Amino acid sequence: MTVDGDFYPCERVSEKSVLGKIGNIFSGIYLEKAEKILNIGKIYEDKCRDCWAYSACDICIAKLDDTECNEKDILPKDCKKIKFTFENNLKDYCVLKSLGYKY
Ligand code: SF4
Repeated sequence: MTVDGDFYPCERVSEKSVLGKIGNIFSGIYLEKAEKILNIGKIYEDKCRDCWAYSACDICIAKLDDTECNEKDILPKDCKKIKFTFENNLKDYCVLKSLGYKY
């Protein structure tokens, strides 16, 4: 909560974020908005539905929001990084598994 009484989902979301503001001490929590940003996959349903890295994706509102956008303007800027990291983790797993390491 900010000194003005605005609610944000966590300390990593900017207090200037339009998208991340999920309520106010006087008006309560904006449930519909809060629900939506808790599930980013819903916002990007078309894009994420067929993404092979979906199960490893850790995109959240704090990573997406550049403070002045609304949900229609934001795009996952970290998709490439997430997929790259996941692919490398899978490669590491395969190599270690082929060398006999057990998890
Ligand atoms: S990497 Fe991008 S496209 Fe894939 S699930 Fe995450 S946000 Fe969606």
